[in-house]
Amino acid sequence: MILIVDDNQNNLYSLKKLLESQDFEVDTAGSGEEALVKALQNQYGLIILDVQMPDMDGFEVAETFAGYSRTKEIPIIFLSAVNTEKRFITRGYASGGSDYVTKPIDPDILLLKVKTFYDLHEQSRAMKRTQQNLEREVQGRKAEQITLRSKVNHFHLLLEGLPQIAFTADENGEIDFVNGRWFQYSPSERRFPATGPEDSDIREEFERCRKDGLPLDLEVQIQNRSTGEYRYHLLRVSPVYENGSIKNWIGTFTDIDDQKKVEKEKDEFLSIASHELKTPLTSIKAYIQLLERKLKLDKDSKEAGYVSKVQDQVEKLNTLITDLLDVSKIENGKLKINKLPTDPDAVINNAIESILQTHDEDRVKIERHGPKPEILIPLDAIRIEQVLINFLTNAIKYSPENQQVIVTTFVDDHEMKVSVTDFGIGIPEHKQEAVFDKFYRAEDSSLQFQGMGIGLYICSEIIKQHRGTIGVSSKPGEGSTFYFTLPLN
Ligand code: ADP
Repeated sequence: MILIVDDNQNNLYSLKKLLESQDFEVDTAGSGEEALVKALQNQYGLIILDVQMPDMDGFEVAETFAGYSRTKEIPIIFLSAVNTEKRFITRGYASGGSDYVTKPIDPDILLLKVKTFYDLHEQSRAMKRTQQNLEREVQGRKAEQITLRSKVNHFHLLLEGLPQIAFTADENGEIDFVNGRWFQYSPSERRFPATGPEDSDIREEFERCRKDGLPLDLEVQIQNRSTGEYRYHLLRVSPVYENGSIKNWIGTFTDIDDQKKVEKEKDEFLSIASHELKTPLTSIKAYIQLLERKLKLDKDSKEAGYVSKVQDQVEKLNTLITDLLDVSKIENGKLKINKLPTDPDAVINNAIESILQTHDEDRVKIERHGPKPEILIPLDAIRIEQVLINFLTNAIKYSPENQQVIVTTFVDDHEMKVSVTDFGIGIPEHKQEAVFDKFYRAEDSSLQFQGMGIGLYICSEIIKQHRGTIGVSSKPGEGSTFYFTLPLN
């Protein structure tokens, strides 16, 4: 908006009309005082100021405008009929004017000047606004940077306080922070610690996972720089996402060496104990058979019953020791699988038969469902039978009320699936995955049902070595279905 200040109403009117004809918004003031009040209340882009006014002349008004921050930037064009002398014009500029127009006014010239000053003022206001916005943005970014830096510092402080070796890497996998413990195992914050001769290369393993965007979980031995000792560590590196993409990686090495040593000692004890137990047990078995033959007992006599009970118990002991031996074989990588093309149906039937022989046939009912596999599959018949016997024994053991069991088979182009379903106590969902772990027993059943929690662990290792899959689905109180799959080739 443009403000015209003149004590002459006619001048005001004609100037107003002239400017409005060019689409300018116009306001008027009849005196210097009125102009001051209006300029402090409104926002003007240009002031056209008559120099000769009765109370306050145009120069005084302009000087007053120059004293207020709100008005000092507004361009002023002076209008004067008389003072064409140089000193008046000079005073006009000195008091803050931008231009000087003498009366009688040439409308074209005035309009040109008005347009130029008005546009200039608008542009400079727009530039100021942009500058202010930019300044605000810069301030905002600075504040953000400070917060981010303090967050990062806080995070690094947390990593320093960890009992583990900790580090972070950027999206390209370059290490960009390590905590103090890092230097016990690596001389440089850019290089991963040196691994044992038989361990995988950490950088290679990390790169492999990083390319797939997957976390890394790795047990490695790394060398302590001051003692030279290799210690087992669990390395975990996890991606950190921001807006759906990986921003960086956080990694820790946890020292599990003591744990590993205890585990190794336990495995060694297990291996020795089961081997040592196996020898006398084999003799006991042989002597009982000898005794049975020599005594020639009447089948229905009490004594024959006792001998048969001893044989049952010895058989149980034998199974336990064989399982323990299998565990130690797995630990030492010595569980050998001899795969030969085999009719899986024969293996399934053998397993069912041996279960029926050792259980009360009146109570236990085993049904077959699904099409019978009529192909040869490369498998270790003894080991797969062992898996099935384990599934079936568990199905009966953990179903005290209803000893009905269903064995279902299914074959497609790639694999054969065998499942064993029971209607027993079931397993809560959160414990289902753990039943395949070594020595794990679902708590509720451990008091009521005897066992060591290694049968399913051995099964899962046997199936793993056949490159198959193993799993369970179960509902507490309704029953469980354990299954395994074997690839056809
Ligand atoms: P064990 O039976 O000797 O304890 P397993 O390794 O065969 O050892 O089984 C591990 C655990 O899984 C068992 O202790 C039991 O809690 C649970 N489990 C296995 N099979 C079944 C089943 N059919 N129904 C319910 N729970 C089962």
